[in-house]
Amino acid sequence: MSSSSTVRKVIIIGSGPAGHTAGIYAARANLQPLLFEGMARGGIPGGQLMITNDVENYPGFPEKVTGPDLMAAFRAQCIHQGCEIHAEDVNRVDFSARPFRIWAGDPEVEYAADAVIIATGAQAKWLDIPTEVALKGRGVSACAVCDGAFFRNQEVAIVGGGDTAMEEAMYLSGLCSKVTVIHRRGEFRASKAMQTRVLENKKIEVAWWSEITEIQDPAKGEVTSVTLRDTRSGETRTLTVTGVFVAIGHTPNTDLFEGQLALHDNGYIKTEAGSSRTSVPGVFAAGDVQDFVYRQAVTAAGSGCMAALDTERWLAAVSPH
Ligand code: NDP
Repeated sequence: MSSSSTVRKVIIIGSGPAGHTAGIYAARANLQPLLFEGMARGGIPGGQLMITNDVENYPGFPEKVTGPDLMAAFRAQCIHQGCEIHAEDVNRVDFSARPFRIWAGDPEVEYAADAVIIATGAQAKWLDIPTEVALKGRGVSACAVCDGAFFRNQEVAIVGGGDTAMEEAMYLSGLCSKVTVIHRRGEFRASKAMQTRVLENKKIEVAWWSEITEIQDPAKGEVTSVTLRDTRSGETRTLTVTGVFVAIGHTPNTDLFEGQLALHDNGYIKTEAGSSRTSVPGVFAAGDVQDFVYRQAVTAAGSGCMAALDTERWLAAVSPH
């Protein structure tokens, strides 16, 4: 294993809106950032927007922009401002002493940095059925706020019984003619207040004790209906919908940091309220890896900016030269 001889001022891990925004701000602050865009942990560099077709809620694009186009623009701007990008996975980190150490790539190279910004994001959990994979981005989505508007006045289904499913069902009920919440049990896990709003909403129906076994119609490249199986009797029925929203939780990409940083019980990195500071001074976190409430590209970008500004101020305080 080789090691990079220089100690970097800041290394950024992650290449979604949070990582690239941190890169843009850190480069402009003359921190000569190095950003790792990994393949293994988020699937592809660029984060969750890489699997989003049309983005209509990112400010600055009055028509729309595709997720991959938006991320290509983020990346180009990051490079243009002077951020160095390595297309390598970070394999492990050591935050127990400064400079912090990071091992990346294959063959592995050791890097050192005075500060680290973590922006490794989160991944939506999926149902893991073959027809879901075939129709992702073609009627199957994991984000109602991102894609709901494509289903205006149509009938859609949402899977899950937690707060996210409730929130997304409410959001979709404002756009769609009918929303069916599909839940595998006979009671929701969501907070009582959210449940009540959903159960009292006339546009929302609940399919209790139900799970989707198949989504039609991959041959047409669009969603036309789903097959529901009763989780108690095994009986099946067809529900006609044009959209399926999966809201069964997200998994933050934090396995690299277990034992090194304080995490919430749900695995997300703990940051101090109103800042990007983690439990280790000099290590900052931005974007979905530390946010299970808002989870939007624009909030991720905003928190990437915060992380770069926090880093700059922290570096100035600890090494005032
Ligand atoms: P949760 O883990 O709370 O809920 C996931 C839901 O999906 C559960 O009802 C679960 O069913 C169901 N589920 C899980 N896997 C499958 C599967 N393979 N097939 C079918 N159903 C499945 O995730 P959320 O994203 O809803 O919430 C995450 C956290 O964020 C929670 O702490 C929540 O309170 C919080 N949150 C808060 C909000 C707010 O305060 N405004 C908004 C959104 C989230 P089962 O119940 O049977 O296990």
